[in-house]
Amino acid sequence: MSIPRNIEKIINPPEFHWVGDGFRVHNFIPAVNGLSMERMSPFILLDYHSPYYYSPTDKPRGVGVHPHRGLETVTIAYSGMVSHNDSRGGGGTIFEGDVQWMTAGNGVLHKEFHEKEWSKQGGEMHMVQLWTNLTAKDKKSPAKYQALQNADIPRYNFDGVEVEVIAGSFNEIKGAASTFTPINLYNLKLQADSSLELNLPRNYNTALLVVKGGITVNGQSIAVDNFVLMANDGEQFSVSTTDGAIVLVMSGEPINEPIAARGPFVMNTKEELAEAYNDFYAGKYGYLE
Ligand code: MN
Repeated sequence: MSIPRNIEKIINPPEFHWVGDGFRVHNFIPAVNGLSMERMSPFILLDYHSPYYYSPTDKPRGVGVHPHRGLETVTIAYSGMVSHNDSRGGGGTIFEGDVQWMTAGNGVLHKEFHEKEWSKQGGEMHMVQLWTNLTAKDKKSPAKYQALQNADIPRYNFDGVEVEVIAGSFNEIKGAASTFTPINLYNLKLQADSSLELNLPRNYNTALLVVKGGITVNGQSIAVDNFVLMANDGEQFSVSTTDGAIVLVMSGEPINEPIAARGPFVMNTKEELAEAYNDFYAGKYGYLE
């Protein structure tokens, strides 16, 4: 018998900020008025790019070459097209429904831009970038890149509900991504007048991002673009909608290790952070034009 899980906090989208010139995002983790890295571990950053229109341009917008270490960046596209290239040979373009899962591990350089041809047309961009933390041991692993195309993401369909299992598992359906620690990441696609019961381990930090439409969680209405932190007081809760909705569900086992974070690096200690910067300046993360 599962114990009901309550809502702990509903967070309105904070004022946007720009990442490079291509990503207009609302930061929910680790925002001052949002959640700390510790509270949502293993999810240590969430930048939400709500729908925003970009005019046509011959010069793709985005973020130039920069490093990462000690974490994974997970990019989920709802609309628009983003291209990624990294110094360990990973690369690809994602569009609606696709996910790219980059393990920075012991260090990588990458760049993230709107896709070239898409930029020439212009259009609406709508996406999420989520960072997941790695344990001290896994921070030493080599960089890795997983391209998850929508068609290859296993899904569960029932009664107007579709659960795309990006990572982890749902009703015995195993997710597309391999993860270092237990993580469930789903895109819930709810048709009008549908609902779903979710049952996730109590100790897993769990939250919802309402990407499209409006939902009701345990009977409480939540508007689009809002973030819902679930308490760690039970397992089971319900998500429903009257008009249809898309919801990103994040649930993961916390990594209970010290966090030392600065810019694009998330390590365990200050000394390791200094080493991460030194290695970057020494060119140890490879080369990327
Ligand atoms: Mn990056």
